[in-house]
Amino acid sequence: MSEWRARLEKGYQDFKSGDFLEQKALYETLGTHGQNPDIMLIACADSRVDPTDIFNAYPGEMFVARNVANIVPPAGNDEAYHGTLAAIEYAVTVLEVDVIVILGHESCGGIAGCLAGLGETGADGYVGSWVSILNDAKNKLIANNPNAENLQFEMELEGIRQSIRNLMTYRFVKDVVETGKLKLQGAYFGIHSAELMLADDDGQFIKV
Ligand SMILES: [Zn+2]
Repeated sequence: MSEWRARLEKGYQDFKSGDFLEQKALYETLGTHGQNPDIMLIACADSRVDPTDIFNAYPGEMFVARNVANIVPPAGNDEAYHGTLAAIEYAVTVLEVDVIVILGHESCGGIAGCLAGLGETGADGYVGSWVSILNDAKNKLIANNPNAENLQFEMELEGIRQSIRNLMTYRFVKDVVETGKLKLQGAYFGIHSAELMLADDDGQFIKV
């Protein structure tokens, strides 16, 4: 048996005889009545940043979409297929979540790629094209902070702020935010020491 297959089967067996047994009633309820999460999380696909681990969530509690560099693209009229936007639309209009949390993180490869110019020539595949969504934010950041000591960290925070601004370009988000029924929240996870920061209303990140 291949290593990955053995790993999947072993993990599943351990889950089935462990967490699942402990939460059997919860799984039954969720299976019968469906989900009703209050929180949506948009996180990076990075394997080191598991949002339900970081926030100690149980099944059914958080609706999660993950992509490269936790980016929300701005509204546009293109014909592309938008997985992240489909998840956001569902969370806001059907699940009626209370908050959308954009969770950025330390040493993000997607942000590093954007800073390194990935996507600027249009020749860097899907990843380049995806992270180039942040090019305007990156160029502004660099113009305003020409000698920034920690550009990677500053860009990780700016990427979160930009995705929150981009969320507001969707009517179905903006309308609900303006009624006060939906909050948009920035968050940042430091991998080394599991440090968490949350953004205030001015977009300043403060340690929890
Ligand atoms: Zn990342």
